[in-house]
Amino acid sequence: MRAVSLQKDLSLFTFKDLLEFFPYRHIDKTGICPISEITPQTEYIQVAGRLTSLDVSGEGHRKRMTATLKDATGFLELIWFQGINWIHKTLVVGHEYLVFGRVSFFMSTPQITHPEIEVYSPEKKDGKAFLEPVYSTTEKLKSKGLGGRQIAKLTAHLFGLLSEKEIPENLPESVIEQFQFVSRYTAFRHLHFPPDQQSLKKAQDRLKFEEFFLAQIRMGLMKSRRHRYSQGVVFEQVGDLFNTFYHQHLPFSLTGAQKRVLREIRQDCARGRQMNRLLQGDVGSGKTIVALLSMLLAIDNGFQACMMAPTEILAQQHYATITSLLKDMSVPVRLLTGSVGAKQRREILQLTEEGSLPILIGTHALIEDTVKFKNLGFAIVDEQHRFGVAQRARLWAKASIPPHILIMTATPIPRTLAMTAYGDLDYSVMDELPPGRQPITTVHRYDHSRPQIMDFIREQVHAGRQAYIIFPLIEESEKVDYENLMKGYEEVKAFFPEPKYYISMVHGRQKPEVKETNMQRFVSRDTQIMVSTTVIEVGVNVPNATVMVIESAEKFGLSQLHQLRGRVGRGAEKSFCILLTGQKLTNEAKQRLMTMCATNDGFKIAEKDLELRGPGDIEGTRQSGELNFKLASIVQDKQWLELAKETTDNILKDDPDLSTIQNSRLKEYLLSQKGKTAWSKIS
Ligand code: ADP
Ligand code: MG
Repeated sequence: MRAVSLQKDLSLFTFKDLLEFFPYRHIDKTGICPISEITPQTEYIQVAGRLTSLDVSGEGHRKRMTATLKDATGFLELIWFQGINWIHKTLVVGHEYLVFGRVSFFMSTPQITHPEIEVYSPEKKDGKAFLEPVYSTTEKLKSKGLGGRQIAKLTAHLFGLLSEKEIPENLPESVIEQFQFVSRYTAFRHLHFPPDQQSLKKAQDRLKFEEFFLAQIRMGLMKSRRHRYSQGVVFEQVGDLFNTFYHQHLPFSLTGAQKRVLREIRQDCARGRQMNRLLQGDVGSGKTIVALLSMLLAIDNGFQACMMAPTEILAQQHYATITSLLKDMSVPVRLLTGSVGAKQRREILQLTEEGSLPILIGTHALIEDTVKFKNLGFAIVDEQHRFGVAQRARLWAKASIPPHILIMTATPIPRTLAMTAYGDLDYSVMDELPPGRQPITTVHRYDHSRPQIMDFIREQVHAGRQAYIIFPLIEESEKVDYENLMKGYEEVKAFFPEPKYYISMVHGRQKPEVKETNMQRFVSRDTQIMVSTTVIEVGVNVPNATVMVIESAEKFGLSQLHQLRGRVGRGAEKSFCILLTGQKLTNEAKQRLMTMCATNDGFKIAEKDLELRGPGDIEGTRQSGELNFKLASIVQDKQWLELAKETTDNILKDDPDLSTIQNSRLKEYLLSQKGKTAWSKIS
């Protein structure tokens, strides 16, 4: 019966599950505290003293029992509302008792309601010498006699049956020695029933490290296998197109970071194995030109290249940027999106299949099965977090030898997160902005200062600049948000009347042509102000825009705010970001706004985001099972993650298949984990 309840309510099926059903905290019962030392901050306490009074008062459900416990330093009140008859019989005034429980204060007198109480005998003088585990359970389970206490009993019983060899070591001896870890068996035992705080800490450290270590080694093995066995097309040479463009048509000189990343890509693609590279570059770091040069490299070696963007607007913009960069060279480029007409579409598909189209740019329309390449050698995925892993796999399938893949993202992810979520990818960072950029000044203002902000926009517009005003559009409240956007648009129009000023508006309900026309008018400076929802969040590049106003900024997450802000500060002029909010702000919203005002560094912002929201919510990693650690937290236990990474790298460097004797038990363990471990069921 208990087994059924455990299975249904806590998904505990086997001994192993029970072992890994970790207590969420421990109550320290190791010491006896003098009553006078109890303060309002005291949580749980163990005291010993003489019972000096015991009274029952009230009737029915108001019945209560009160007792007073006295030690050498003061008095403590004990209270019961339930089980009074039984407890009353067991307690004797004048005897000594050991009492444990959660302290509360009533009129400055400390008291414990429903304490644990037992006779204080001399051999227990030092109190019960252990930390008691507390397990989370459910009300329903409690009612069936399976409260946390019973789970503790079951687990204790289990440890009575298990010996060291049933929880064998899985880490290599050298690792255990290096970090002075306790054995796996001891770690599990002490995690549930630690003799003292220090043992608990040691058990936690060992098991946290183990979790990170195993995740890292699995990904490391995947990566090292791919490096050694995957076949990739070879780009042997840097050819004419690359060189011509690089020496004659590059509109600026590359930053050091751009050069470094290009070198990494070139080396990767010459090796004969498939590249899977994640390129993280903060907004405005200049990823597009890196993408273009990589595509030229592919074409020079006789292959086709494609570039996918998450939205139609972005695909169009890439198309415009790349055709204009290539205008003096004869490299055909076409754009394929959902809104391309049937006739054009057929033509593009045919050219692609024949191999006479070297560069195809588009949205996820590119991964549809109807799009066939003659010899795709290089695929770029821009703003990766909108594309799932399965979609990427469809790209790989587009050629008999999978094309090299470059995933570009401007949503920086903290290193720790990248290590766990994308540990199987190679990884490049562009941490340098093109020269001449001035940092964006960011301020937070309340709604009532909107008129001043409009004045400021007017000044900027008169100086020849352009401005964005962004409204939130959140799915749950779409209708209201939409109305707000329209209202906002009317208000902005009132401040900036035609024909002196023109305004573009872009939102998700518009037809693609309308969106594009409005966008295009802003790009070509026919309009000075862009009122929009977050459809322009990623990638949009209008270097002349210098003001970004974000309405209801408290509704946006940090990474979104950072992306939106990245739409300005792209040219040489000084840019500004104004975060507008209502008066009422949650603590977290305040922290987000403060962070935005304090830094322009996407990586710092990502760290803060991770800290505020936890890894589960970070964009692009939501489906990643890799982040679900039982004990370890990639936020709090960062240092263990770094150490685990370092350790696994070292191990795999010397023994990439784990075939040496030192690593045999690790390998065995990993193999045993492939299927579900067959431990006997709880009966
Ligand atoms: P992102 O990394 O956000 O995609 P883009 O590729 O759109 O950035 O580049 C942002 C802007 O910076 C563009 O206007 C681009 O022309 C410019 N840019 C890129 N690289 C350089 C460079 N090395 N020197 C000067 N400007 C650059
Ligand atoms: Mg971009």
